[in-house]
Amino acid sequence: MTSEHLVTKHVYAVGTGDCHVFLLLGPESVAVVDAGFPGTWPLVEQALGEVGRTPGDVSDILVTHCHIDHAGGLSELKEATGARVWMHAADAEMVGKGQAFRPWKAAPGLRNWWFARHVVAKSPQTFPPVAVDKFVRSGEVIPVAGGIKAVHTPGHSAGHMVFLWPVDGGVLFTGDAANNVRGLNGPNIFEDGKLAADSLRKVSGEKFRVACFAHGAPIVGNADGHFRDKWSGA
Ligand SMILES: [Zn+2]
Ligand SMILES: [Zn+2]
Repeated sequence: MTSEHLVTKHVYAVGTGDCHVFLLLGPESVAVVDAGFPGTWPLVEQALGEVGRTPGDVSDILVTHCHIDHAGGLSELKEATGARVWMHAADAEMVGKGQAFRPWKAAPGLRNWWFARHVVAKSPQTFPPVAVDKFVRSGEVIPVAGGIKAVHTPGHSAGHMVFLWPVDGGVLFTGDAANNVRGLNGPNIFEDGKLAADSLRKVSGEKFRVACFAHGAPIVGNADGHFRDKWSGA
């Protein structure tokens, strides 16, 4: 998926190069999941126009974790919309300092090693810092868009969260806890591989019809079944 489109009736995917930003279209306001790289705002602004919304309609931004492709564009997004920012405290601390990465390792496999060495290691390591407004705890239902459940999924990063929105049959926003670039997979880099695997088992116990990945095409229909097949017995 490289271009913008509706994943479900209420979820719009904005292609921002390598990483998707998602618009959650509520009746009165719009919530955004992740902020993309620095420079992403004009793409989000254009996408808002395509769905008949304005920057002022964006009330809240939920950020899965501190990496440059998810939080790098947060400063400009917050400035343009005035929205509140929600994150787990551990990665909010990184974002408050404008630091994208803690020490990490590539997941096993040559492709992951190549990606880590040639893409992640060459990414900018800092971005404009943002003061996160709200720290989110695991299991908390964020009072946005009718309620969005946050689940702490550490491993890829210490403060990584996935978000579950119970509309359209249940939509999971995976951040980088999983990707769907070459089929459904765990993260290609992590701070702690065991925690990353534990987190995927935890997510596989949730109910969601649709999975929206930062990286890779969404799975629409029986998405939780795909997660369980891959990870529940792992
Ligand atoms: Zn990441
Ligand atoms: Zn990412």
